[in-house]
Amino acid sequence: MAERLKGNDAGAWLRKLKPSNSNTRISVGGGPSARTSVGTSPVASASQSSSSDNLGMTSDRLRLRMVERVRQQGVEHEGVLNALATVYRHRFVDPALASRAYEDGALPIGHGQTISQPWVVARMLAALCEQQIPTKVLEIGTGCGYQAAVMANVFAHVYTIERVRPLYDIAKPRLRDAGLRNVHCQFGDGMLGWSSKAPFDAIVVAAAGLSIPQALLDQLAVGGKLIAPEGDKVQRLIMVTRQSEHQWVRNELEAVRFVPLKPGVQN
Ligand code: SAH
Repeated sequence: MAERLKGNDAGAWLRKLKPSNSNTRISVGGGPSARTSVGTSPVASASQSSSSDNLGMTSDRLRLRMVERVRQQGVEHEGVLNALATVYRHRFVDPALASRAYEDGALPIGHGQTISQPWVVARMLAALCEQQIPTKVLEIGTGCGYQAAVMANVFAHVYTIERVRPLYDIAKPRLRDAGLRNVHCQFGDGMLGWSSKAPFDAIVVAAAGLSIPQALLDQLAVGGKLIAPEGDKVQRLIMVTRQSEHQWVRNELEAVRFVPLKPGVQN
């Protein structure tokens, strides 16, 4: 989960959020630098289940409006924006919250976690696609599975790890039922990465640690990129590029607010 916090009084805005850790952006600075590049066409069709839901056809309108907002907030990568337009975000939250699924924020998904703010998802994925679209990408923090579903429409192979068993138990069949066969889920501690599937062209971390776990840096392919929030009360998105076997270069991006990255698993 992640959100973006707007305006100068980020604190006041933050206090309004429930839960207070919520995968959002903290302040609007110079704006994201994601440059325009037309992505490949979606590699996975999100043939999402046609089961009835609260929103019905209005969701198409709301979703397109959400995508336009994200575009206005500086994300220009067409492949990522198309993926955002494709995935039914309201099916990744509790039906009672479905009417709020296309608002610009994080929403609770249970177990103290949240679904990430659409802008944060788009910002992170667009940043990974700046030079070229990575093929094999690892996500740490599956949560409800929303970001993994968006990723499945941008990248050829998606691997995702969740440490909270009940969230994993919901996300895995949800992604399968959405027909996203290029997403592979694992229950476990994502701080350890997924060594048997490494190296990854890119890694996206959806929870904030005090530092980026070395195992993840080691599982990045040379030339690969990792994006992760870092910090405790004050957090920033960090982009790390692996330049060589022994050299990683880091760049700091926007201030954000994510739920904590925790070691071990929760059953
Ligand atoms: N990607 C999700 C965001 C979920 S919130 C979305 O689409 O909205 C972040 C998630 O990271 C939570 O579900 C939390 O349980 C998980 N998490 C935290 N530490 C983790 C770890 N070490 N390994 C795997 N998942 C972790």
